[in-house]
Amino acid sequence: MSNSSSSSSKAPLRVLIWNEFRQERDARYQTVYPQGIHAALHGALTSPDLLIGVSTLDDPEQGLSEQRLAETDVLVWWGHIAHEEIADDVVDRVQRRVLEGMGLVALHSAHEAKIFARLLGTSGALLWRTNEPRAETLWLVNPAHPIGAGVGPSFVLEEEEAFGEWFDIPEPDELVFVSWFSSGEVFRSGCCFQRGRGRIFYFRPGHETFRSYYDANVLRVIGNAIRWARPALEAAAGAAEDQRWRP
Ligand code: ZN
Repeated sequence: MSNSSSSSSKAPLRVLIWNEFRQERDARYQTVYPQGIHAALHGALTSPDLLIGVSTLDDPEQGLSEQRLAETDVLVWWGHIAHEEIADDVVDRVQRRVLEGMGLVALHSAHEAKIFARLLGTSGALLWRTNEPRAETLWLVNPAHPIGAGVGPSFVLEEEEAFGEWFDIPEPDELVFVSWFSSGEVFRSGCCFQRGRGRIFYFRPGHETFRSYYDANVLRVIGNAIRWARPALEAAAGAAEDQRWRP
């Protein structure tokens, strides 16, 4: 195990789709994602170069055990109503894995997840007015970025929840998408960050009552982001700790 390289170009990328999985167990949402958002994404993202697993908040160790994280190259995160239930030691170990090199793709309401604020150092708060359906146009503002491959110059989601600026995040290292909503809001909807050795991509679409995770462009972007976030030069476990200067 220790001598296998997770970043080998031949080995499949080990992806863990983590979902809070609370709202989709409620009849009101089951018509959209009857098996849960994680299952919809798992089915749609299946590809020979990806080894995809799923876990949810109600799994043992909240689906994010030390072992599970150690075997994950890129973590995809969807959460909404239960952010506060995530144990702080779970947040600690996800943060540690990102600093070691694990990629993180944070979707939609993950802007309020504890791990998002922990990694970015800001609140992640944004302007919110309604979740009545609005049309969202996502403009690719960095056409050379690999996350935007195949979806430019823009694409439209006919029904989404509008988010607006100001979005309280650090200045992204790279901005890939900006959204415009039919109700007038604009939003930085595809943002790249690096923390430690880990790459982070925030991608806005995916409200639980809308069908965005069946949209070919959205799925293309998430797939691109997973591959972009693959660990480049992953540190050995605990290396960040070992490298701390101690007087
Ligand atoms: Zn939402």
